[in-house]
Amino acid sequence: MGRLEGKNCIVTGAAGGIGLETCILFAREGANVLLSDISGPALERALEKLKSIVPDAKKLDTKVTDVSKEADVQAMVEHLDSWGGVDVIFNNAGIMHADDADAVDTPEKIWDLTQAINVKGVWFGSKHAVLSFRKHGKKKASVINTASVVALVGAATPQLAYTASKGAVLAMTRELAMVHAREGFRFNALCPAPLNTPLLQDWLGDDAAKRHRREVHFPTGRFGEAIEQAQAVLFLASDESSFVNGTDFVVDGGMTRCYVTPE
Ligand code: NAD
Repeated sequence: MGRLEGKNCIVTGAAGGIGLETCILFAREGANVLLSDISGPALERALEKLKSIVPDAKKLDTKVTDVSKEADVQAMVEHLDSWGGVDVIFNNAGIMHADDADAVDTPEKIWDLTQAINVKGVWFGSKHAVLSFRKHGKKKASVINTASVVALVGAATPQLAYTASKGAVLAMTRELAMVHAREGFRFNALCPAPLNTPLLQDWLGDDAAKRHRREVHFPTGRFGEAIEQAQAVLFLASDESSFVNGTDFVVDGGMTRCYVTPE
């Protein structure tokens, strides 16, 4: 028996990074998985990769979704009605815009775009998941929302809109966990540290100084890997974490516990 045998799971931002690694683990553990992303071609490439890695995967499907549009999110969740409803949703899609900066230089349209995807997208995903859980009479279900360590510690390399959005994800997830606890619906927030995924690495590019400015804060001396986040998501999705609710689940190699790193 896989750790997610028979569970119907949705992953947003599934085309790459943490999302795709999570889909691979979910499928390996016996889940039926709906991969969702704003990019259709990237989603199809992700599905092919997943099928080649997990040839005996159960049900797999894709759904192009912009998480900032409620109608899209509703259609994504209702896509699983014919599967028996959602058991697990990983609200993972997020952006960190190149023009996001400090209080003075962040353009308002970048602020609004970031909140629309990173915050409203998580709200819509949580809302329609709750409606699905109730419609299908689920007595236990798990929602995992991707926040970030920047919701916990301040950074002197600001992306103010992004940081504010991830703080909102933490606060929202905590409250959802309290409101729905008696229904058996768990909500936890994942807090990844900076990772080796395109979201950050494309932005850092070849700038060694910019890279070092971040790497020095890791006791381990390295960025995290997407798979290390996916392993945590698998735990939070599965019934193994049945008494874990409302947490800021930090997967950061010790970064947020650190004063001075080893030489
Ligand atoms: P990624 O860029 O590899 O993946 C993000 C995915 O989200 C992409 O496939 C993208 O197409 C999709 N997406 C973007 N806008 C969307 C929208 N409106 N609707 C649906 N999908 C959309 O990045 P990742 O590193 O795997 O990031 C996943 C999550 O982890 C994000 O929420 C990110 O903020 C968070 N995070 C990342 C890091 C890091 O260093 N990479 C650190 C902390 C938190």
